[in-house]
Amino acid sequence: MLLMENDVDFNKVVRQHLEMEQFFTGFTIRRESRMPEKAPQKDEAAITEKSRELDRIAEEVRRCRQCGLGSLRTNAVPGEGHADARILFVGEAPGADEDAQGQPFVGRAGKLLDKVIAAMGLKRSNVWIGNILKCRPPENRDPRAEEIISCFPYLQKQIETINPEIIVALGAPAARTLLNTNKSIGQLRGQFHEYYAGLGRPPIKLMPTYHTAYLLRNYSPENRRKVWEDMKKVLAELDLPIPEHSK
Ligand code: URA
Repeated sequence: MLLMENDVDFNKVVRQHLEMEQFFTGFTIRRESRMPEKAPQKDEAAITEKSRELDRIAEEVRRCRQCGLGSLRTNAVPGEGHADARILFVGEAPGADEDAQGQPFVGRAGKLLDKVIAAMGLKRSNVWIGNILKCRPPENRDPRAEEIISCFPYLQKQIETINPEIIVALGAPAARTLLNTNKSIGQLRGQFHEYYAGLGRPPIKLMPTYHTAYLLRNYSPENRRKVWEDMKKVLAELDLPIPEHSK
């Protein structure tokens, strides 16, 4: 079929969607996955305190006008999830769906992230999900340096509050910002790095991997396999069971 440059090949999109669906749902879990919250004996009061602090930061984000994006947004997207999550996923910035709903990763890339999380034997409610930028850049353009500089402290405070065991950086902007590097995502992914968590605090292990939006655009078994290899390393590091591909 002849397609104009901007036309969408719907058959291809549907086929990719179905294949992706199969890939990230075709796993069986060998044994019951331990919930990824930290030790069950953990002080409930401490977790409640973390939740309150996250709510406080979210309120600050919703009032923020530190860069030009503050006046363009429908909703700020502070991030969401378990206040005591062992894994924290970080993306780039909200897109149109996220801006409309005020929640991270609820569009197409978000649905795929849900599948990756499910394929890991986890639930979205057990992890925490956020972005480098809390407001949508117009037309989903790349974040600008000055926007990152004014927004990043919110994420730093969220990470400090949750204190996860592992951060998964989705895509180059997240990985580069969190690791303060200019390396490409191809160079960074596949191995653990260290996120500097502040003076006197131990570094947090960080696994960069491809963004799910990139995966949707560059659909190939090779890219999917790479993301799954990265997530298996995360599970192994947390001593969580690695679900087997059932096919
Ligand atoms: N892409 C991101 O980086 N973040 C979202 O929340 C959604 C899409």
